[in-house]
Amino acid sequence: MKTAVYPGSFDPITNGHIDVIERALKMFDKVVVAVGDNPGKNPLFSTEERIKMIKESTKHLKNIEIDKFSGLLLNYAKKKNSKIILRGLRALSDFEFEFQRALMNRKIDSDVETIFIMTKEDYVYLNSSIVKEIAMFRGNVKPFVPEAVEKKLMEKFR
Ligand code: ADP
Repeated sequence: MKTAVYPGSFDPITNGHIDVIERALKMFDKVVVAVGDNPGKNPLFSTEERIKMIKESTKHLKNIEIDKFSGLLLNYAKKKNSKIILRGLRALSDFEFEFQRALMNRKIDSDVETIFIMTKEDYVYLNSSIVKEIAMFRGNVKPFVPEAVEKKLMEKFR
């Protein structure tokens, strides 16, 4: 059974993340969406809120688990019996950071592979920060996030 771990902040989950998860589910038996429990990042939504939004936005998907993790990602992947770390790739700007991380993880554990999935063109410029900025100024975030997230954002910035 091939399990991929998809780590991220997901603050909040966007249609870009969902697109990556859906593509991954065509290649792996199971995808574990792992929400980074890292208070240092000062997220807008608590870990529990982020998990809840992911659950509500992925109801239509099978073979997916939503969890949180802290500490070294490689240790978490091992705990989940996975040797595959999944990351999404957008524009060129992601490349250097992701490349560094993937190679660093490989240095620590050469058995673990990082796999990149390219998002749909529509979501190439989409990220959680932009969505939060639009919502803060009460712009329309409908095209970028699942309905459950749109609702939560509207509540946050009421
Ligand atoms: P992190 O803080 O770890 O970068 P994010 O929640 O921002 O967490 O992203 C998690 C993963 O999803 C990253 O690999 C990121 O590149 C990817 N990702 C985010 N938005 C998109 C998108 N619109 N299209 C494709 N991949 C994306």
